[in-house]
Formats: sequence, C-alpha cells, structure tokens
Amino acid sequence: MSVLQNIQEIRKHIPTEIKLVCVSKFHPEATIMEAYNAGERNFGESRVQELISKQPNLPDDIQWHFIGHLQRNKIKNIISFVSLIHGVDSLRVLKEINRQAEMAGRTVSCLLQVHIAEEESKFGFTESELIDLLSSDEIAELKNTSISGLMGMATYTNDTEQVRNEFRTLKKFFDRVKTDFFAENDSFRELSMGMSQDYHIAVEEGSTMIRIGTSIFGEREY
Ligand SMILES: *Cc1c(COP(=O)(O)O)cnc(C)c1O
Repeated sequence: MSVLQNIQEIRKHIPTEIKLVCVSKFHPEATIMEAYNAGERNFGESRVQELISKQPNLPDDIQWHFIGHLQRNKIKNIISFVSLIHGVDSLRVLKEINRQAEMAGRTVSCLLQVHIAEEESKFGFTESELIDLLSSDEIAELKNTSISGLMGMATYTNDTEQVRNEFRTLKKFFDRVKTDFFAENDSFRELSMGMSQDYHIAVEEGSTMIRIGTSIFGEREY
C-alpha cells in the first residue's frame, strides 16, 4: 500500500474532527511529501536534530509537532517554528520553552505528558504532580506558553483491555483538569493519545489527536 492509500484507510475509520499527526521520524523528505500531497499538514518528529534538518526543505505550511522527549538545551533550536510540543514533562522544561518563546516573540502551545503506562521508561507527570504544577503560582507567570491539553502513551502490550483502561483513565483526568483549571480557557482542548497499534481504542476513549507513524509510512529503519 502507498502512503496515500494508508492515509485514506486511516481517515476512513476516524471521525473528521480527530486531528491526525503524521509521525515522520526516520523517514526521508520525499516520503513526507507523499503525505503532504495527500493533503496532510500536521507532521510529528521526536528528535531535534532530525527536525531541524528536514524543516527548511519542506513546505512552510506544515505544522510541526514535537512529540519526543525534549531536552532543555535543544528547545531554542525549534522554538521559532514548532507548532505544538506534545511531551512536556517537567516545570523546568516548560519554563525554558517559555523563556525561549519570549525571546522569539511567540506564544508556543504545549501539551503536558501524563504517565499512564506500566513501563517505568515512559515519561510524564503523575496525576498528583500535574495537579500540583497547575496549582502553583509559577505556572501563572508563564505568559509565552499556552497549555493546550494533555498527552499520554499507553503500555506497549497486546492486552487491549489494559490499553483501553489507561486511555480511559487519562480521559477522565483530562476532563477533571479541564473543569478545575481551564473551564474558562478554550485553548485547553486537545487530548493527544493513540499510535499505530492503539489509535482505534484511543479514539473510542476520547482522543482528539492521534500520532501515527508506522501505519502511514511503514516500518522505520533505525
Ligand atoms: C514514534 C512515535 C509515535 C508513532 O508511533 P507508530 O507506532 O509508528 O505509529 C507516536 N508517538 C510518539 C510519542 C512517538 O515517539
């Protein structure tokens, strides 16, 4: 199947209001252009070096999503053009994004990552850490970042009930955070959850944004 056919297949099975982020990490620019020519404009990368080497060679109307673990010292390299940073997992990272965004004269949208999986290796806040962060005075001072929602990654397992439960827990938490902290703030509205192997479940459980790599572009060659 071609990239175009893969995208058509995915689009056929998700509601039109769900945002599709095409995860193009490890894939060359020519392959990205196949998705672009199929009408896609949202692309996700997880490594700063790779993103900054591709971005200048690709069309300006692409919205770039940074979906990986972001190191503080690399934020400055993507701040001028990044559209949404998905994996913010500490106040220190958020503050540095804010500082760089202020220098660049921008407001940068971010998602806070919540740890929902069993694996220790995955990043993110626990629910109570995130509540503490949102309750703190420090976050109110960050004028050049906009918290647009939450992001999470389920456990990598064939146990679909476990995956469903993790997504359901995240959605419930998202609703609580929305009510308690962002009731008056329309920009808090995205719940980024779902990848190639679990996006059907994520969409059923209330995802607004899915991040798909392999099912669009094929297996990655590392
Ligand atoms: C690589 C990656 C994806 C895409 O994974 P696929 O299984 O290829 O769809 C989604 N989200 C994050 C955070 C990733 O690093």
